[in-house]
Amino acid sequence: MSKKIFAIFGNPVSHSKSPLMHNLAFQGLNFNGCYGRYRLEEGKNLKEKFFELNLKGINITVPHKEFAYTACDILDPFAKKVGAVNTIVEKEGKLYGYNTDAPGFLKAISEFKEIKTVLFLGAGGTAQSTSTILREEGYEVTLLNRSEGRLEKFKTQGFETYTFDTFKPKAYDLVINMTSAGLEDDALPAPLDILEQVIPLAKACVDVIYGKETPFLKLSKSYNKPFKDGSDMLLYQGIIAFEYFTAELYTFDNIKSHMQKAFIL
Ligand code: NDP
Repeated sequence: MSKKIFAIFGNPVSHSKSPLMHNLAFQGLNFNGCYGRYRLEEGKNLKEKFFELNLKGINITVPHKEFAYTACDILDPFAKKVGAVNTIVEKEGKLYGYNTDAPGFLKAISEFKEIKTVLFLGAGGTAQSTSTILREEGYEVTLLNRSEGRLEKFKTQGFETYTFDTFKPKAYDLVINMTSAGLEDDALPAPLDILEQVIPLAKACVDVIYGKETPFLKLSKSYNKPFKDGSDMLLYQGIIAFEYFTAELYTFDNIKSHMQKAFIL
């Protein structure tokens, strides 16, 4: 079998852990593949670059997930529903698109038991796919965002939505930071007085940002709440993408045993 080449497309992309994660799994499982990174400036060039680089599959990160959706010939039903693709596999010249962020996220929060109501802080692209899968799984998702604009789409889909001005704090089982607040700054995702009312009532708190303790996680910790960052979400979306890349040749746990080493290296 000739070597199969994979990559992550994004802009920026230099910080991505995906090449290390996938290459560790290729090596550990003895799969003849390698995985690189490509800074794609224009999303509309995605398909052309994919074939020019002779790739077998890619992951797509910010800001190209919607472009990736439009580049696919065949869409998985869930990716079609949410309008965002983060994994593409080439089969016989056709591009198949999937969204593995959402199932990865679902698995990451599955360790928290007896969760019914979930408060999302943020209403961006990641909130779109994850809120959809959570609702399909029977969770009740409410969205709280600093501005009105992005909430419109969620409102039309029947989600309960609030801005900081309209929100009336009450108990939610799980509170999740879905924003980029805390990623490159020390910002909280919502005003402190709101967080100080919802966090104490929560069973657990989650941040989708990984690799650092954000102000949101610090605050959750100060209330002794069980919490987790976005590392498991990143790992699990990668494992599910790897299953697609390798046509489900390996089990989830087998892939995990190799891929998770990327988080200690
Ligand atoms: P988007 O750009 O689509 O949305 C950003 C959201 O954050 C908006 O709701 C925006 O509000 C809000 N926001 C940004 N800054 C602030 C702030 N200072 N205070 C309050 N709200 C703020 O981003 P994505 O949905 O693509 O990504 C969101 C987060 O998810 C990022 O931190 C990203 O790193 C993380 N992520 C993690 C993954 C993982 O595997 N762990 C995978 C994918 C994403 P507004 O509408 O008002 O602008």
